[in-house]
Amino acid sequence: RPLTVALIKPDAVADGKADDILAKLDDCGIDVVGKIETTLSREDAQTFYSQHQGTDFFLQLIDYMTSGPIIALALAAKKKGTDVVAQWRTLIGPKDVTIAKEEAPESLRAQFGSKDEEFKNALHGSDTSEHAARELAFFFPDFHKK
Ligand code: ATP
Repeated sequence: RPLTVALIKPDAVADGKADDILAKLDDCGIDVVGKIETTLSREDAQTFYSQHQGTDFFLQLIDYMTSGPIIALALAAKKKGTDVVAQWRTLIGPKDVTIAKEEAPESLRAQFGSKDEEFKNALHGSDTSEHAARELAFFFPDFHKK
């Protein structure tokens, strides 16, 4: 079954939103097939977001993603034949929480993102199936081998 990777980011875990997020996934047509809590090292976070190296927000992004525990999830679509990578990206909504609230108020980032920091958006989703495979190997190495 094709999988994608979601991260419940440090802001959402620290604010106690993880259970509420997890409780919504079933209704969204998503099965959670793997779940681990971990804290990213700076090196892990830099590797994870290597495509943003050199941007003016890179340090801020690394500080954010290493600021506390995260929950990594391996997700599958309940409905056979669904592209779960795309499905999850649609469910989380735009990365800027302000825009998510305006343009996709039902999206998970609109519901769970930070009230006052537009890029503390509570959730990550792999953007392609290649990235999903890489992130799955990183967070669920045993799982990936099966
Ligand atoms: P994610 O990797 O979290 O799923 P995404 O693919 O929607 O996010 P990216 O463009 O890969 O978005 O950005 C990764 C993360 O970096 C965003 O989720 C956000 O937290 C942060 N970020 C992106 N752009 C900015 C910015 N201009 N200023 C501050 N933080 C940003």
